[in-house]
Amino acid sequence: MKGANHRVIYADNAATTSLDREAWEAMKPYLLDQYANASQPYSFARPAKKALRDARMDIASCIGALPEEIFFTSGGTESDNWAIKGTVCLSQREGITEAVQPKQQRRKIITSAFEHHAVLRSCQAMERLGYPVSYLPPTREGIITPWTLRKAIAEWEASTGKVEEEASGSVTAGAVGLVSVMYANNEIGTIQPIRELCEIAHAAGALFHTDAVQAVGHVPLDVRKLGVDFLSASAHKFHGPKGIGFLYIRQGVSLVPYLDGGAQEYGLRAGTENIASIAGMVAALKKSCRTLQDDISHVRELEQTLLQGLNAAGVSFVHNGAATARLPGIVSLSFPGMDGEAILHRMDLMGICVSTGSACDSQNTQISHVLQAIGLEKHVAAGTIRISLGKDNTPDEVRQIVSALRKICT
Ligand code: PLP
Repeated sequence: MKGANHRVIYADNAATTSLDREAWEAMKPYLLDQYANASQPYSFARPAKKALRDARMDIASCIGALPEEIFFTSGGTESDNWAIKGTVCLSQREGITEAVQPKQQRRKIITSAFEHHAVLRSCQAMERLGYPVSYLPPTREGIITPWTLRKAIAEWEASTGKVEEEASGSVTAGAVGLVSVMYANNEIGTIQPIRELCEIAHAAGALFHTDAVQAVGHVPLDVRKLGVDFLSASAHKFHGPKGIGFLYIRQGVSLVPYLDGGAQEYGLRAGTENIASIAGMVAALKKSCRTLQDDISHVRELEQTLLQGLNAAGVSFVHNGAATARLPGIVSLSFPGMDGEAILHRMDLMGICVSTGSACDSQNTQISHVLQAIGLEKHVAAGTIRISLGKDNTPDEVRQIVSALRKICT
């Protein structure tokens, strides 16, 4: 890894990424000199206002959206919470803390069993309020198939006796309100058939959200081609600052305001805009878009160096999600019979940062919900680590990772 922290081999880029220099330079003026509140009418606030306007345009052009479809948030977690809680409630004209509709009219949410907790816990919160939620199972390869979604919708409609849409154009009570499936999984990197899933959701009258937190800035992505209604993104996953992100909301789709207060973000997300972080996020995203193809090729080569190196070293491992399209850089490896936590700690002692696919406490080791959902056997899942390589990693670093794993796992 380039930069000051040169003794660390950082291979946990799916957890967070380093702040890009261009992003930092873009932030500085708004932290030091141009600190005005963008809502103020005087001329000193003009640079902040302009930065906000430009940011919306730049982000929109990176993902094929319109500027007015971009809403700044505090990151992926907030974007996911907003899309999920704001959609189903709005369709019933409720606030987002109370379900007031009769049970049979509450609209259903369909998501997948291996979403990030920002989505899963939001769905569980809606369940506690009385909304029905289904969790689609991924295949062993880590894919939510269109067939699975079609089946879930058909079963739900059969069980409720779908109420016909009223001539007034009001929403169909008791129908599926929202489908939320992540663009790519954060533990195993598998990319989902979003366009097809989205078409199925729309045909059933539901809106479609995708958590694209791991994908934005790493693969080419166009919201119009995908057809999604909502898309979540987070700057710190693509070399921007932490605590800032955005939610794409397709024009014409309504959401309940997530934070009440001032009129910022078209009255939907109150709070003084964090111009410095927004400027940093935009600089990072623009750079990612500019260098995307080179970065993808570089990271794919690193992946090959890793996998071929492990094979050549005689390390026996399972590569999770290998059979399908995956994000560049996320490599989930299971070492059957081993303990992922122990591997992580031994790599840490060698100055290498990776993460595990299981969370451990002193009492018991819990297998990650993602590995459980794809049906990995317990003794395989327990020995899983996630290596996430980024544009700043070098072939030499990857060779050191191989050498560390050879020492630990053979
Ligand atoms: N969604 C996915 C797929 C993620 O990987 C993460 C972060 O790891 C999040 C959501 C949460 O994003 P943030 O850290 O910006 O809240």
